[in-house]
Amino acid sequence: MNSMNSGPDTTNNPPATAAPATANNAVAATATAITNIASLVTNDPSLGDGSPLGLIQDAAVVIDGDRVVWIGETSKAPATDNRFDAGGRAVVPGFVDSHSHLVFAGDRTAEFNARMSGQPYAAGGIRTTVAATRAATDEELEANVTRYLREALRQGTTTFETKSGYGLTVEDEARALRIAARHTDEVTYLGAHIVSPDHADDPAGYVDLVTGEMLDACAPHARWIDVFCEKGAFDGDQAREILTAGKARGLHPRIHANQLSHGPGVRLAVELDAASADHCTHLTQADVDALASGNTVATLLPGAEFSTRAEWPDARRLLDAGVTVALSTDCNPGSSFTSSVPFCVALAVRDMGMTPDEALWSATAGGAAALRRTDVGRLTPGARADLVLLDAPSHVHLAYRPGVPLVAAVWRRGERVV
Ligand SMILES: [Zn+2]
Repeated sequence: MNSMNSGPDTTNNPPATAAPATANNAVAATATAITNIASLVTNDPSLGDGSPLGLIQDAAVVIDGDRVVWIGETSKAPATDNRFDAGGRAVVPGFVDSHSHLVFAGDRTAEFNARMSGQPYAAGGIRTTVAATRAATDEELEANVTRYLREALRQGTTTFETKSGYGLTVEDEARALRIAARHTDEVTYLGAHIVSPDHADDPAGYVDLVTGEMLDACAPHARWIDVFCEKGAFDGDQAREILTAGKARGLHPRIHANQLSHGPGVRLAVELDAASADHCTHLTQADVDALASGNTVATLLPGAEFSTRAEWPDARRLLDAGVTVALSTDCNPGSSFTSSVPFCVALAVRDMGMTPDEALWSATAGGAAALRRTDVGRLTPGARADLVLLDAPSHVHLAYRPGVPLVAAVWRRGERVV
């Protein structure tokens, strides 16, 4: 249950503008109208106030089946059998979390506790999770994924990407992807998370495995291929080889890039037309220029900097350069054990130079862009009916009231699920 299967819907894009619907148009009586919305975020600049968020005051949304069929002012909403009174609260698109690592077992509380007691974080703690994940049963892994997806859904996440990367053998990576694919279509093969401990003395041999037999076993279960391009993980040449092999098998690239240090990851992402370069904490001007000139989204993951007491990525610099920015959780047991997009929104506003509007956009439409999706992350006629009702009059409260459980209700694919 709580599947977030969605089907990348690139052939049925919503129209650019909302038809000015009336009670006489094609809205079926069986549809549901959510009315009396104080502030509605559509992410369509042609609607409402003309801002990037396309804000509409005193709004209504009509949903039919799994789609939005009408958007406008409550006073003009078409007649429907079913009504839900939002009570003067805000509605935003369901959050699109485009980066998480949910197929894992084990516990790293002690590592976090040690780090918070002054030890620096370095790539490699992943091995603890690899050992626990290999030892876990399918049922244990499945139960973990289900648990964290429910947790995320309660906090408003309606589209979720998740990765392998804690198996690092042919069978364990394929198993992780099979389990992930039962919950989302946004599945990423991350055999190149770190060099497997089994190949500690033969990293080249591990790259051969990741691009050969492991890729053969994993490609049928994934949409994306990812690599951790970082000192201590994979260098630029290895990352290029891995992503190029994945592309040849029909997987689209995305990259863990420039998290802990400067490096070639971001420029490689743009060169390979990766959907997203994730982390982007340590950037040169050449990196920023590359992102601004390409189609690659910069996905910022402030939960990682929070949980490792690291330097924040500079969202302001990226936005001012014209880069498309997404915000996601990086939910994983080592460096960012949060499933909360609202928490990341609050961090981005407080510490990364984003306005509340920009952070909300990046956590919805930005996440969708990082997954090359147009059917989610916005509320326009034709879009998927993924909505979050906040116990607040405005989306600004997500940053203004950090840590407060403001998600009052969630609809996913038109169904009320929270
Ligand atoms: Zn990650």
